[in-house]
Amino acid sequence: MTERRCSIASTVGILSDAWAFLVIREAFFGAKRFEEFRSGLEVSRATLTDRLRRLTREGILREVSYSDTSSRVEYKLTKAGIDLYPAFMSLMQFGDRWLTSASDVPLQLIHEGCNCVSKPIVACSCCERRIVARDVSYHDGPGAGRIRIESSKRSRRTADDFMRGRPSSVSRALEVIGDRWSFLVIREAFYGAKRFDQLQAELSIASNILTDRLARLVERGVFRKRKYQSSPERFEYLLTPMGADLHGPLIMMMAWGDRWRADGSPPMLLRHETCGQFFTPTVVCNKCGEPIHAYTMKYRMRYNPAKFGGPKSGRAVPGRV
Ligand SMILES: [Zn+2]
Ligand SMILES: [Zn+2]
Repeated sequence: MTERRCSIASTVGILSDAWAFLVIREAFFGAKRFEEFRSGLEVSRATLTDRLRRLTREGILREVSYSDTSSRVEYKLTKAGIDLYPAFMSLMQFGDRWLTSASDVPLQLIHEGCNCVSKPIVACSCCERRIVARDVSYHDGPGAGRIRIESSKRSRRTADDFMRGRPSSVSRALEVIGDRWSFLVIREAFYGAKRFDQLQAELSIASNILTDRLARLVERGVFRKRKYQSSPERFEYLLTPMGADLHGPLIMMMAWGDRWRADGSPPMLLRHETCGQFFTPTVVCNKCGEPIHAYTMKYRMRYNPAKFGGPKSGRAVPGRV
């Protein structure tokens, strides 16, 4: 079996599942030690140990000993890990926009560049305008092609309740799309696939898994079903406005995969039809338009964080690395 070579898939493959995403989110909140991660996530020890190990192996976290006398380690974000921050911010903004009422937004971001409460948006690196899905076209890049896949590592959907930890728009977004197949089904929809057969052919996905993910994504409001044939009855799956808004987080993950995993040969190029240029998606402050980085953003929690550990406000990453 083969699948499309794709930087979204390689990024999602590294992050592997919702727990790994949330471990990284905690690292952005300053968690370094095992127990700090655990209190923010309320996750089992075995799961946390596994995800910390995996993220270390993948070069997202690195282990640093914090005591000469014991073998205890802290986990720090690497440069590649810190570079995930814009993608996380776009996922968080998606959660804020669609899955949270305005009065209930868990976290405020303050951009140090302009000292404003910021709601970062995904913008074009060429014309600096906001990117929306319908203005982007997709073109094969130097790394385009198909790769072989092993059938064994194909499906993993966590049944765990990762909403137990701190209130978070990232968790809420992952609750909607939080497994690899859901990401890839949504990706194919952006490339134009609407029908079951198209999705199945493109993804080499088992039909029972595809049926399950489509039903779930319809139920969560990412797709709507439209009948295009009566006998036999056939439906196509169209992105809702909420589904279309996942474009930002997805292309940010693509950009990260291109930077860190594509060996200089991105499989796909994005063209912004508004300005006619090939572009790199960038997350910018909606107030001043400057690109945001982990070390220029402060956060303020709007819930009591006592239960989850960590400070009520702070900075995602203290200073450049
Ligand atoms: Zn543009
Ligand atoms: Zn700003």
